[in-house]
Amino acid sequence: MSGRIVILPETLTNCIAAGEVVERPASIVKELLENALDAGATEITVDLEKGGSSIRVIDNGEGIAREDVPLAFARYATSKIGSFEDIYRVRSFGFRGEALPSIASISRVEMATRQTSSPAGTRAVVEAGEMKEISDAGCPVGTSIQVSRIFEPVPVRRKFLKSDMTEQGYCMDVITRLSLMHPAVKIRVSVGGRPVMNIPAVPDLSERIALTLGQDFRGQLIPVAGEREGVRLKGFISRPEFTRSGATQMYLYVNRRFVKDYLLNHAVMTAYRRLIEARRYPAVVLGLEIAPGDVDVNVHPAKMEVRFRNPRGIYALIADTLSNAIGVGLIPGAAEAAGVTGVGPSGYASRVEEALKRYRVSSGSEKLFFGGLSIIKREAPVNPPAVSREEIGKSEPSAKPCCFSDLLYIGQTAGTYLIFTGEEGVVLIDQHAAHERVLFEKLRKQAQEEKPVGQRLLLPEVVSLPPRDIAFLIEAAPVLGEAGMEVESFGGDSIVIKAIPAFLSHTEARMLLLDLLSECAEMDRGLPLQEKREKIFTALACRGAVKANRNMSGPEVAGLCRELDAIPHAATCPHGRPLAVSIPVTELEKMFRRR
Ligand code: ADP
Ligand code: MG
Repeated sequence: MSGRIVILPETLTNCIAAGEVVERPASIVKELLENALDAGATEITVDLEKGGSSIRVIDNGEGIAREDVPLAFARYATSKIGSFEDIYRVRSFGFRGEALPSIASISRVEMATRQTSSPAGTRAVVEAGEMKEISDAGCPVGTSIQVSRIFEPVPVRRKFLKSDMTEQGYCMDVITRLSLMHPAVKIRVSVGGRPVMNIPAVPDLSERIALTLGQDFRGQLIPVAGEREGVRLKGFISRPEFTRSGATQMYLYVNRRFVKDYLLNHAVMTAYRRLIEARRYPAVVLGLEIAPGDVDVNVHPAKMEVRFRNPRGIYALIADTLSNAIGVGLIPGAAEAAGVTGVGPSGYASRVEEALKRYRVSSGSEKLFFGGLSIIKREAPVNPPAVSREEIGKSEPSAKPCCFSDLLYIGQTAGTYLIFTGEEGVVLIDQHAAHERVLFEKLRKQAQEEKPVGQRLLLPEVVSLPPRDIAFLIEAAPVLGEAGMEVESFGGDSIVIKAIPAFLSHTEARMLLLDLLSECAEMDRGLPLQEKREKIFTALACRGAVKANRNMSGPEVAGLCRELDAIPHAATCPHGRPLAVSIPVTELEKMFRRR
């Protein structure tokens, strides 16, 4: 009997490898852009078709010699390293030689490339991993790569893609991340032939931050710079007053490579600790420069995860530099505290220990990054769990007494919980959750009755935003309209806010919009309208609801109770948390051992 083990043909192994490198169109954009940057390009053009279904990247970099073109599509063929040790010296983005063959194995790639020294360029077409054509061609110096029919050879992969808007959003994220660390490179992006981003080369990072992330950032930036044991940190961070409700504006880089790293994020948050409210995040763009030998970038094919040789020192460098920049000496002696002795402010030292412990056991995955900071986004359930009449009044935590207005208000505890007494026992209401639910119901009712209640702004507010946010707002405009919020495109990178929901009239329109965008950043744009509506309404209600740690007056409490009574089954906030808890007398008796 012949053996059953066979060596897989290269077309198949490339397809398998492509699973790691090419997860979605945005991964292709990333690899092509990195190659262009590695080739020393100073001008890059990215043309996307809907949802990244076709991608073209044109650069004016060094180009590829005719004889190297077939090699560029061969697996493990790279011009960037020659020996294993080189991996620990490499300064380029690429070195594994996997991107082009992986991409070509799951799509059709058309390449045109020419080096300055060569009079003629080369044109090559590769389909599903097979070289179909290679010939001389006239073309400008540099490289142009067009990738189309993405995932055609592996249709199953297509099923994992999200809506066009979402995929396009991921592509824009990739471009934004790379452009932030390369201010001297001019970048133009078009989608479906329409220009969406045109960033000129600028002398420094702060200019590029304003251009890529919106002008709002400009006035809010604090420059930071620090050095420790040969590791350099440089970048910009936002003032503690300028926070966002998601961590999406935290851009961290190691040797200009964008990374998602638990340890680095933790160090940043340590500097802002006690200065910003819980679940608020700063905006930061920070670059670490480390000797290539002190960091391992070869942990993952997409290279988003890294390993540091001296994580402790890096943690201290970030926490120290940032806290000094925000307000000198917020964490006195942070650097020493992170040293081997472990002396210094106990809170800080234990934070570092905890972060390092987690760092060692984790693989630096995104899940841990979020889990560690406990900022897991609570998704609004499509339908807040309704409590049936029969359940009401039972001793479940979410039980609702017959009528909140009948209860006697006693006072507030922990700045957040309203205490009531009634015939059946004690009732506690979470003021924020309760108010949030009330506002959410109002919005839902207004939308149903098509009677939005908006407050027109005396002066419409123009806000400049990154392209993916503009695209989202234009799409979400009808839903926002149902809530009384009017936003319209103002051309280019700007939108104009003309009205905001009446119940939010006391808030600043710009901040409201930015918060809404952070809240909805993770939202899949392909969601059905109804679910999008629920999410947007939840975000607006949360923003408008009375915050924890605010004293509510007697009449305010009475008003809240009346409004709760008007909602059928008001047992949970739109996030799905209970808004009231009741402790029946029978429970109290048990607690005091009277029964
Ligand atoms: P890697 O970047 O890891 O070396 P790739 O598969 O991305 O592997 O690319 C293979 C090789 O093709 C590179 O090493 C480089 O020599 C060449 N190459 C790819 N894209 C370009 C480009 N835009 N300009 C110049 N050379 C390129
Ligand atoms: Mg590459």
